[in-house]
Amino acid sequence: MNDAVMERLKQAEPVFYPNPHYDPKQIRKQADPKVDDAARRLERFAPFLSLAFPETETYNGKIESPLVHVPHLAHRLRAMHPFAGTLWLKDDARLPVSGSIKARGGIYEVLLFAEQIALSQNKITTDSDYAVFQDPAMQAFLSNYEISVGSTGNLGLSIGIMGRALGFRVTVHMSADARQWKKDMLRSIGARVIEYKSDYEEAVRCGREEAERSAHTHFVDDENSEDLFLGYAVAGMRLKEQLLAENLTVDASHPLFVYLPCGVGGGPGGVAYGIQNAMGPHAHCLFVEPVQAPCMLLSILTQTHGKRSVKDIGLHGKTEADGLAVGRASTLVSQKMTPRLDALFTTDDASLYTHLRLLYETEGLFIEPSAASTFAGPSLVQTWGQYPAESLHGANHILWATGGGMVPEKEQRDFLAR
Ligand SMILES: *Cc1c(COP(=O)(O)O)cnc(C)c1O
Repeated sequence: MNDAVMERLKQAEPVFYPNPHYDPKQIRKQADPKVDDAARRLERFAPFLSLAFPETETYNGKIESPLVHVPHLAHRLRAMHPFAGTLWLKDDARLPVSGSIKARGGIYEVLLFAEQIALSQNKITTDSDYAVFQDPAMQAFLSNYEISVGSTGNLGLSIGIMGRALGFRVTVHMSADARQWKKDMLRSIGARVIEYKSDYEEAVRCGREEAERSAHTHFVDDENSEDLFLGYAVAGMRLKEQLLAENLTVDASHPLFVYLPCGVGGGPGGVAYGIQNAMGPHAHCLFVEPVQAPCMLLSILTQTHGKRSVKDIGLHGKTEADGLAVGRASTLVSQKMTPRLDALFTTDDASLYTHLRLLYETEGLFIEPSAASTFAGPSLVQTWGQYPAESLHGANHILWATGGGMVPEKEQRDFLAR
């Protein structure tokens, strides 16, 4: 079975891989004190966020997105490949501040750094009103520090926008896949952007090395950061509240299936971890990757946890799903997710545009190509046969639409025309 999957990976053919290491006994409804701590930190920053980014007021200073019922999209998808249950879209493209899932983990890590410095220099206590982070004096103080990151684009945007809003100096090391408008936007708000002709891995390596030479620089390490992971994980308890508000339960006859686009893994890994802690083993998580960059599938299939690159199996790694153009998975996430993922699958680039357009036509929502990678998920689970057909009638499927909120209009039109 592994050999057959590996063969399809090498041929860049779409593949569905039921994870043989999946072990629901290890998934329990239980609070992780570190995730609770991250959630409380985000609440402390809510007064600052509502001042600096008034669009966060919808969720009282929280950076959160709507859970959208998408019956028209479901109808059209079913006409192609049937599946039972109710379809939802978690619209992270509509996340305030930076319009992608990176506004969860990336921004959390910037806020954490700001808080740690301010606490250590006695500028605040954890009981302070964090609106103080809007004060010019505080921002002048934080301008002595720098935040740096390597990115395919969206992480750089999130770190850059929040870093600059707090007064930090910001450097973003951008891989060749990154879109021009993201670099332009970052420069326009005063971030330093360093461009690389090579891929994401190289941009991260150079950024990490440069940051190590400076004592006042914090490098946001997308490949290894536990803080990023915890910031993403807060999504789980918030999703639970949104499901309750819709009167939805998660149990054996109402299983939840969540489909998450995966790049290096921190975003989907953190979110999946948070969801399972909040809702237990009937919350099933699946990752999807482009056929040219299936780094997490390769990592879990071979149990090499980030040691192997998709280039090692002959793939070039280039994809229209720029947010997922990652050749090597996060070691931390690969290990953590090995017993927790039901399955992983891949998708080709052409279907990204078909699905992106389908969502726009049926529900009027625009998302970017990476975020449209999940749409085959519900029908794949249906044909898989792992779950009894009766239970799938009560299922809720969530497509995690990871980004697209900041894509300029001209680019949106180009994407829709593809
Ligand atoms: C970054 C990103 C992802 C994947 O997140 P990782 O942490 O890299 O796995 C998915 N979709 C979009 C739009 C992204 O920007």
